[in-house]
Amino acid sequence: MGSSVKLTLYGGVNKVGGNKVLLEDNVYDVKVFIDFGINSSEFSHLKAKNPDPTKVEQLVNNHILPRDEDLPIQNLYSKHFIYDHNKYKFREKVRDCENKVDPPSNLDGILISHPHRDHYQGLSFVNRNISIYAGVVTKRIIKASSLCMPPKFENFLYGLQWTRFRTGNTINIKGMEIFPVHVDHSIPAAYGFIICTSAGIIVYSGDFRMHGPLQLMTADLIRKARELSEEKRNNIKYLICEGTHINKGAIESERTVKQHLRKLFNYMLFDYFLVHYDRVNWDRFRTYVNIAKKFGWKFIITEKDAYFYNRLNMKAVYDTMKDPNIEADKDILILSQDDTKLPWKKSLNELLGKSEMTPRRISIDDLKTLEGKFFLYFASNWDYNKIKNYLPPNLRGAFICSNVDPYAEDYRFYKNKISNELFEKGIPSYRIHSSGHAKVHDLIRFVNEINPEYLIPIHTNYPEAFEKIFRNENIKIILPIREIPIEVDC
Ligand SMILES: [Zn+2]
Repeated sequence: MGSSVKLTLYGGVNKVGGNKVLLEDNVYDVKVFIDFGINSSEFSHLKAKNPDPTKVEQLVNNHILPRDEDLPIQNLYSKHFIYDHNKYKFREKVRDCENKVDPPSNLDGILISHPHRDHYQGLSFVNRNISIYAGVVTKRIIKASSLCMPPKFENFLYGLQWTRFRTGNTINIKGMEIFPVHVDHSIPAAYGFIICTSAGIIVYSGDFRMHGPLQLMTADLIRKARELSEEKRNNIKYLICEGTHINKGAIESERTVKQHLRKLFNYMLFDYFLVHYDRVNWDRFRTYVNIAKKFGWKFIITEKDAYFYNRLNMKAVYDTMKDPNIEADKDILILSQDDTKLPWKKSLNELLGKSEMTPRRISIDDLKTLEGKFFLYFASNWDYNKIKNYLPPNLRGAFICSNVDPYAEDYRFYKNKISNELFEKGIPSYRIHSSGHAKVHDLIRFVNEINPEYLIPIHTNYPEAFEKIFRNENIKIILPIREIPIEVDC
């Protein structure tokens, strides 16, 4: 008799990012995807060949998304909500979608572990009848991020049917129970899932670390998995485990980032620092703003960043997301972006119109005459290209690259290009960073504490390393093959 449960990986296999795991449970008659991300290198390779994709077929033909006909799912992709940004303006497309209804689909849901694009960006293309399960803040960050991204095909989330959860909730899909539990990562609102299938308990780690400020959250996932295993008198059958840094040992933390920055400040040799990290890395944002305050420096962000952070400040669930506070924090200056006419501009103008905030708004020309010392943050290549010609030539600056895990070749290329270009202008580069992913020693601890019968490595360039590292333990490692189902043994 065949197994009642199957797992098929459509992304994140021998690669970092782009996780898409289809879980089918015949006893519960459930089909769900766990994450539905787009791998950033695969997507940039497509864009190198074809600069402006606007059709799902282009993603499918390049194996970025699974082909509808190869799936046991009807109507996975939307018929009406695919945004051709060359044909429509964003608002026109929204209006066009208002009365549209997609055909029914037999997919019971998509669970999103956290708001990094390599875990959720495929949502832009899915049938709008499918339920999207995401954490309360996860959804909020995804929405705020999509509003801050260019209004393009791959960022169009209008019409999705969200079901929100928090740690402590149970998601029940046709009787199959799923327990989402928060984990620590380089972004707030990251979760792992414990899924009680008819063939036993399956744990999906999501992306996580055990050295960050919220490391106890990762311990909560482990504890809940062990508790459920005891309660249901059922071993943990499978662990689908991220392995970004299975090849790397390093002892680091957000605290070491702060310590290294402080050391750099001991010398007081620079007048400004150009800084780059992922906008959604809230811990990193806080670390930098705290350092700026401590030394009496200003921290400059763009209007788009201010909009993003303020939106999340306003409805902060975690206390950590109230700090830094865009409205109250006088050391944060806001760089005007006159060329942007996006919907969020209006609400930002209202915020910045408040008299006490007006002096904190500066123009790009002000950079050249700014008094006092400052950090200047850029989130993207686009922002970098805007500011690079306005850096004050009479001041001594340095670039600090503080971005998360540049595992993709093209990302490294882009970062080196910036470093080289700045060096030409007499601006040297530093790298000060701590990863969002568990290092090898923490991965070993995590796996041993979960203690599954089988382990499937995902989100890693080195899945076979798990076989070698766990060779003396009683855990069977299953190396996944993209699109080939793994039958969960009962
Ligand atoms: Zn991530």
